[in-house]
Amino acid sequence: MRPLLIVMSAPSGAGKTTLCDRLLQDYPEITYSVSCTTRAPRGLEEDCVDYFFLTPAAFAERVAAGRFMEHATVHGNRYGTLREPVEEALAEGQSVLMDIDVEGAAQVRAFVETLPAGHLMRDGFVDIFVRPPSLAALRARLDGRGEDSEEAMEIRMENAAGEMARADEFGHQIVNDHLETAYRELVEVIEEAGRAY
Ligand code: 5GP
Repeated sequence: MRPLLIVMSAPSGAGKTTLCDRLLQDYPEITYSVSCTTRAPRGLEEDCVDYFFLTPAAFAERVAAGRFMEHATVHGNRYGTLREPVEEALAEGQSVLMDIDVEGAAQVRAFVETLPAGHLMRDGFVDIFVRPPSLAALRARLDGRGEDSEEAMEIRMENAAGEMARADEFGHQIVNDHLETAYRELVEVIEEAGRAY
């Protein structure tokens, strides 16, 4: 497979993490892009593995130094992808998987479009939006997780509606109604992109 820059976005609860984890397991040639964030670690999350957990000041420094390929504020916290590890992985022939929000995805898309045809990041760019079957189904899934307060849930649902409204910006959309089917569709998109250029 040729190196790909894979960007996946979805409202939280759409099952994106499960799909990403499975893809990473099945394709050792795909590296997960570890993002920076100003939010606090949750549960068993580890620094440098799940995220680079930064203070707001450390995050702002990296913004000022132009070290981010994209960055955005999501649910009140800042998130960003450092340019360097992505470029390094691609240069080594690895594919990179970025799990980022729709705003970050739009920034990466705009950036790769400035690159000349033939550039690895431009030719290998694949953007995928994972949709829940409906907002009601998403709400039911998040309720099932039981992780959120009513207020946090409202914020998530509002955010989800906003993100779904931008789904058409993506080159590919996958509806995650049934996990096996969604995963098969994801693999098809990746395989096709990996051979197509
Ligand atoms: P969580 O805090 O639940 O891990 O992630 C919240 C949201 O932030 C998710 O939609 C995730 O895709 C997004 N996100 C994670 N890392 C990045 C990043 O580096 N850049 C952007 N723009 N969004 C990110």
